Amino acid sequence: MFIWSSYDYMSQIATERYSSIRVYDLSLQKPMDPNVDDLNSHGISPIEGDDNDGEGDCEMVVEEDENEDREPVTLGFVEKPKNPTSLLRHFFPSKAGGVPAWLDPLNLPGVKSRSCGFCENPLQFLLQIYAPISENESAFHRVLYVFMCPSMSCLLKDQHEQWKCRTDGFSPRSVKVFRYQLPRDNVFYSRDPPKYDGSDKPSGPGAPLCCWCGTWKGDKVCGSCKTARYCSENHQVVHWRSGHKTVCQRIILSSKDDSNPTDTNLQMKNIVACNTLWPEYEIVHEDECLSDDNDGDEVLKDNGSIASSIVSSKPNAEDDEEFNALENKFEADDDNKSWATFQVCIGKDPEQVLRYCRDVKGAAPLWPVSAGKPSKQDIPKCCHCSNPMFYEFQILPQLLYYFDLKNEADSVDWATVVVYTCSASCKPDRTGFTHEFPWVQIQP
Ligand SMILES: [Zn+2]
Ligand SMILES: [Zn+2]
Ligand SMILES: [Zn+2]
Ligand SMILES: [Zn+2]
Repeated sequence: MFIWSSYDYMSQIATERYSSIRVYDLSLQKPMDPNVDDLNSHGISPIEGDDNDGEGDCEMVVEEDENEDREPVTLGFVEKPKNPTSLLRHFFPSKAGGVPAWLDPLNLPGVKSRSCGFCENPLQFLLQIYAPISENESAFHRVLYVFMCPSMSCLLKDQHEQWKCRTDGFSPRSVKVFRYQLPRDNVFYSRDPPKYDGSDKPSGPGAPLCCWCGTWKGDKVCGSCKTARYCSENHQVVHWRSGHKTVCQRIILSSKDDSNPTDTNLQMKNIVACNTLWPEYEIVHEDECLSDDNDGDEVLKDNGSIASSIVSSKPNAEDDEEFNALENKFEADDDNKSWATFQVCIGKDPEQVLRYCRDVKGAAPLWPVSAGKPSKQDIPKCCHCSNPMFYEFQILPQLLYYFDLKNEADSVDWATVVVYTCSASCKPDRTGFTHEFPWVQIQP
């Protein structure tokens, strides 16, 4: 199991100290056995410290009994997948682009959930993060999936609808977040973590997927070959035009000719035909490193205030010349000021694509634009259990850069996507998942 944050890491140890736990980190690709006593006597040392090989000397030790404001934000970065199988579902990956690794491979969202609320096309997979809550039995495995319609005109409509969610219940959206979670004992995965020795296998096949997008359940079958499956008419049409027309004939012929009947059928399996999915990356994580190499001592001493200032989006950065310069430059304009603040905070780790803050005390999103922030009242309650929803993570515009999206017509462009989730992380019903709440700010 991949522990998203050191917080989860510690609560894992606290709740499971009597069982034979194995905590492991995907970036190591091998299990490691933490020595509980050792960890307790030294405070929390983030697990990332172990795979840094000393390269970024930004280890941050958080004392268990000190002010919780000291907890750093966890940052997500993208990396090319280590190997073609490292992002499969039984490795519990956090990933961006490509196709989702469904935690529950059978109960996938139905037509209404998986379609854009405006153009009704199937949504495209943006990212998923593996974020278990070890003190919540039903969330031993927990994955948040973010999907988005790739059309900017839909996202502009979504801008208006997100304000109405509180009062309207379900407004149409072009950005959707699903939460899946499973207890440790479940029908899909072993109680024990993967071994990473080549013997790990998926637990049986999942639901047949659309052979165009590879993302959603393939409920519909091609009427001619009875082999190709689709999530929607739209994907059937684009697949037909982009080559299935020919392949379909071949499948029909080869099924009449017994000499090699399954060859073409096999070829269709697990191959995603669509070439417009966003490029696939693994998301790796690291606690926010607040020290600059030049003034390491001072920053170490000051970690607390800087950490809390960064998460509260009001940096206490009077000493920071860069910040002051930017602030003066944009003094008259709130949005520009907000943008400058945002840039300075992000600038400390310019490649971050995600900021994760569940259970980080006082954490609030960094808003790049001062207008268009939701108030507390604009955030709906959990649609499943009615508990309040809290900020859990935000996606940064840097991801657009890695997706190479900047120059295409009508391609999505956002300043940030903030995700609010059920504070109780309630157990989903029989559908296997529940909706969480995204808030999108677009570029000024
Ligand atoms: Zn749309
Ligand atoms: Zn599809
Ligand atoms: Zn066909
Ligand atoms: Zn809930």
